[in-house]
Amino acid sequence: MTVRPNEPKDRMQGIPVSPGIIIGKAHLVDRSTVQILYQYLIDEKQIAGEVERFEHALRTTEKQLETLKNKMPEHVKEHSFILDSHLMILKDSMLCDSTIRRIQEERINAEWALKKSFHEIRKIFAQIDDDYISNRIQDVESVSERILRNLSGEMQENLAEIRERVIIVAHDLSPADTTELNISKVMGFITDVGGQTSHTAIMAQALEIPAVVGLEAASERISDGELLIVDGSTGEVVINPDDADIIRYQEKQLQHEKYKSTIAKISHLPAETPDGYRIAIKANIEFLEEVAAVRDHGAEGIGLYRTEFLYLRSKGLPTEEELFNDYREVAEIMAPDPVTIRTLDLGGDKFASQIDIVNEMNPAMGLRAIRLCLREPGLFRTQLRAILRASIFGRVQLMFPMISGVQEVLEVKEILNAVKQELDGEGIIYDENMPVGVMIEIPSAVTISDLLTRHVDFFSIGTNDLIQYALAIDRVNEHVAYMYQPFHPAILRMIRQVVQEGRKAGIKISLCGEMAGDPLCTPILLGLGLDELSLNARSIPLVKTIVRSIPLKQARHDFKQVLQLNTAKEVRDYLLKRMKKLIPELGERGFFPA
Ligand code: PEP
Ligand code: MG
Repeated sequence: MTVRPNEPKDRMQGIPVSPGIIIGKAHLVDRSTVQILYQYLIDEKQIAGEVERFEHALRTTEKQLETLKNKMPEHVKEHSFILDSHLMILKDSMLCDSTIRRIQEERINAEWALKKSFHEIRKIFAQIDDDYISNRIQDVESVSERILRNLSGEMQENLAEIRERVIIVAHDLSPADTTELNISKVMGFITDVGGQTSHTAIMAQALEIPAVVGLEAASERISDGELLIVDGSTGEVVINPDDADIIRYQEKQLQHEKYKSTIAKISHLPAETPDGYRIAIKANIEFLEEVAAVRDHGAEGIGLYRTEFLYLRSKGLPTEEELFNDYREVAEIMAPDPVTIRTLDLGGDKFASQIDIVNEMNPAMGLRAIRLCLREPGLFRTQLRAILRASIFGRVQLMFPMISGVQEVLEVKEILNAVKQELDGEGIIYDENMPVGVMIEIPSAVTISDLLTRHVDFFSIGTNDLIQYALAIDRVNEHVAYMYQPFHPAILRMIRQVVQEGRKAGIKISLCGEMAGDPLCTPILLGLGLDELSLNARSIPLVKTIVRSIPLKQARHDFKQVLQLNTAKEVRDYLLKRMKKLIPELGERGFFPA
């Protein structure tokens, strides 16, 4: 390792998207935009040839993407939908047909025509008032760049061929680039652009390689071969570190890894406090393929199956049979543990091209989730039939998202009963006692939670949306991300109200937002008296460790203290101090953010 203590070291702060500490040499990759050197007019006789040249580049691009998809490591196959979306862009008429039309009508060369089509699409995307959607222009750009490279024959560094243990530094990496990374060689990556919801971040997590994005100028400030420290848990990047830095981070890295394997051993023990209080720890999943990992990490069931991803990754609408087979398999694998299947939560930041959702100014507050299902009863009934049919193959629970009031619950239950009758008429059996619950994620549902308890068997608190709607913070907008505060006193009071009402009525209460997997939240969620937490499977060992270390009495005391505090910062500081005192080894090994 070359250490150059005499040169000034530099620190950068980015957005941490995939945890872990890495120390290694920078490898700069140029994923910059292809320059079109030639823009020229063609004559009538050249049109057919130019169109053929463009179509040949499309076929080559398709083949490259297919190869990338097929070569994806087994454990990240579930994310192949990202490459599917790139393949779909390749078939998009706005990009490809319009390029051909431009070649034919404007008589310009293929590269020029493609650039023009891309700029046109970019203009349309820029008008969309939704960060998630407008950011998807990056996917269109990445596909266009690939086609351009194939047109010009320009070679790009093949990331799969990197043979050294390096840290990739790039202005941007597309999801396709990420899948190409040879993870036995590449230690991790950092990029100038990107955010928490980018597909590249999702891929880094799935590959379990540390990554920091949104560093703005990393590719300008870092030179090839320079030594770097990247902390994927805090977003810190140290350029050209000195010996003291290296030793400090090496120690942190070692402790973190050692402790991670220690806590993994307890993941199959129950989540029980030292004074005997037991809370159920379940997992959130998006795909059937995740079920194996859920079992490995010690979940006691699935507390949230987000079913919309099945719709997002299929070309047309999934059929009842496809849905039934998927739900049945999840139920069978998890049995006798329960699986809570949430009905479609499309809209907001999740769109499926096969469902016609009108362009809305504010999709998070628009025709989303249960509202969309009530508007499209055919779509809803197909899913309900599939869930009911799967219910006899394990312990299935049904959950409705985005419930704002009792009227909606009555309406969905009426549809559910009609579907049950339909199945009765066809002689199809289902679990007649399948529990039915609702997500509490809109402030109005909190306020009337006492009324809602009369109509359902359980509640699951969706803090991701509850924070968004209660604090008026768009959950995918990076400009207000600093105000997205789980520890805001208003949020804590809302959760408390829901738990109190649920307790009074004797129904079960779960919490399935990201708060459930945040180690700093665990003591207060325990102190609140929730029956169940449902979280991403990888955080289960950590959360179980905390539950097994804190007596309920202590957690209740902490929750009472926290309720007296005025701001989210005060709450966070209090909890950080308490946790560092109660479980010092977690603090020392970097499990709590600085
Ligand atoms: C939530 O809103 O907290 C939740 C768990 O659902 P989703 O993140 O899918 O909206
Ligand atoms: Mg939600």
